Order: sequence, then C-alpha cells, then structure tokens
Amino acid sequence: MKIAHFGILESEKSFFEEYFPKFTHLFYHKDLITPENIPNLKDIEILSVFVHTKVPAEIIDQLPRLKLIVTRSTGFDHIDIKYAKSKHIPVCNVPTYGENTVAEHAFALLLTLVKNLPEISRRNLTHNFSYKDLLGRDLQDLTVGIIGTGKIGLHAIRIARGFGMKVLAFDIFPNEFFERTLAFEYTGMDSILENSDIISIHVPYLPSTHHLIDHEAILKMKNGTILINTSRGAIVQNSALLEGLENGKISMAGLDVIEGEDESLENPLIQKIISRSDVLFTPHTAYYTKEATNRILQTTVDNIQHFLDHQINNQVNK
Ligand code: NAD
Repeated sequence: MKIAHFGILESEKSFFEEYFPKFTHLFYHKDLITPENIPNLKDIEILSVFVHTKVPAEIIDQLPRLKLIVTRSTGFDHIDIKYAKSKHIPVCNVPTYGENTVAEHAFALLLTLVKNLPEISRRNLTHNFSYKDLLGRDLQDLTVGIIGTGKIGLHAIRIARGFGMKVLAFDIFPNEFFERTLAFEYTGMDSILENSDIISIHVPYLPSTHHLIDHEAILKMKNGTILINTSRGAIVQNSALLEGLENGKISMAGLDVIEGEDESLENPLIQKIISRSDVLFTPHTAYYTKEATNRILQTTVDNIQHFLDHQINNQVNK
C-alpha cells in the first residue's frame, strides 16, 4: 500500500511509519499538490492531507489508483467530496479531537484582546510599564452571540457561561436540551447581530455560510462589537471586516482564520487587516495543542485501519 501525506511535520512521520510499517510512505512537508509532485503520486492508494491541501476533481483525476482520502482535520471543504464519491473514493475526517481545543482558542483570542495583552507585553520589552490608556473589559455580563452550536460552539457556550456571560445562539438545528441545561437562548441571525457585544463563529464553511458576515451583516451589529472567527476564513468577507474595523462597528477582531489564507497570507488585503493593532491573528493554530494533535493522528491511523478492515469510519461523503 502506498500512501502520501501532505503538510506533515517531521515529528509526525514516525507515528505513521510505526503504525503502518509495511506501507510505502511519501512525506511532503508542504501542503500543496503541484504538477511537480504529481508524477510521484500516480500509484498512491491513500492520500492524507490537512486543511491547506486542496483536493479538487482535477487532482483526483490525476491519481488513478486512489482508494481513500483521509483529512487530519474536522473541516473538509478543501476536498471535492462529491467528486470523490462519484469515483467511489471515501473521504474520512476527524470529527472530533476535543471540542474544547478550538473553543479555548476562541477565548484565548477574546481575553487577549479585551485585556490589551499584546500592547502591554510590547511595552514591557522597552521597560514602559504605563497602562492607563489601556482600559480593559470584563467578560462577565457581556452578551456573546455564538453562531453554530455544534461541538465547538457548545463548548464555547460552556466557557462563556463560566465567565457569567449572557449567551445568544443561532443554529439551523437548535438543540433545546442544551439550551435549557446550559442556560442560553436561541435567536435569529439578525438578533445575534443586533444584540451581541461579542460574536464568535462556529459554523462550517458551506455555500450557505460563505460571507455570512458581509457588509450588510456588519451594518446590523452594535457599534464596537468584538468579532471572533476560529471557524473558516471565507465565512467573513474581508472587505466588510476591514470596513467594519475602520468605521468602528467592529472594535476588535480575533481571527484564527481569514479569507484567502489558503492562497497566501501576503495578500495586501489580508496584510492590511492582520497588521492592525485592533486585530489579533493566529495562522490557523487553534487546533494545535499537544493533546489535540495526538488525538488527530490517532483518529487518522484508525480511519486508515478501518478502511483496510473494510469497515469505513468517519466517512463524510457517504
Ligand atoms: P459541528 O458540525 O459539530 O457543528 C457545526 C454547527 O453549525 C452544527 O450545529 C450545524 O447545525 C451548524 N450550521 C451549519 N450550517 C449552518 C448555517 N448555515 N447557519 C447556522 N448554523 C449552521 O462542527 P464543529 O466540530 O463544532 O466545528 C465547527 C467548525 O470549526 C468546523 O466546520 C471547522 O470549519 C472549524 N474548525 C476550525 C479549527 C481551527 O483550527 N481553527 C479546528 C477545527 C474545526
């Protein structure tokens, strides 16, 4: 069996080699499948990727022996799963590796912003310990709007309730049991936009969530809303985000993802957004903890093993 792993870290190689010693492993540290590496991939049967590796129909067509795609992520919008299905190629993901991991990152971004930690830290480096112009905010009693109450969104709600925040939520499939037990309130998208001090996004990237936060949505927000996006970049329209930051509708943004990140973070609009002092950007690192990465690797080898045992698990294109 020949397998190609894209976007792999040096430290992750041995995990796969030890688990599948009889496989031929091709390891690529970079994410992109390019015309240069395609010739070496002609006879691979399994493709293992992360979110930055695009797998459109044209790539699938160039891998005639491909039998399985595993993505070492929850999201799978980087893979043409319908086309893979038409070719009888299952695509398997890591449906959960700890809903706490990304939710904790959302709050790391939020707390870092409201407490002005980057500027305080910067001043320390020059022995400047003045802070009177850096008044922070309490989270307690603020209203957070959670868009998407799946695994990560619900954990974000748990954390928010722990801080004593009021929680509004929107989901196309509301979960009334959790609404009651976690004491939050489902409402419509407009109500989230109009009534939240903080908005945190936890929906997947789908045609229905593309530019969910656009110019029109931002106009409906309270002045000074804090926006947190740890989900997928293109759910927030970059031009609208920049305008919102410039006109004060958005006072601060914490972004682990940004529209266009897959092409290049050097894009001038992205640079204009992430270099602002009211923006805190982490380059898609929300998932990157010791505990979560171990769980991701374990689920990925389990997905491959299940496929070998003819018991496909975690398939997203059934
Ligand atoms: P999930 O499938 O458990 O939850 C998603 C929720 O969104 C579901 O409840 C669904 O009903 C809801 N939803 C779908 N479309 C909607 C719409 N149009 N409007 C409102 N609600 C809608 O997913 P999850 O595990 O909570 O993950 C959420 C997303 O987080 C993933 O899809 C992925 O894009 C992102 N993510 C990011 C990182 C990172 O490192 N930054 C890591 C993991 C996941």
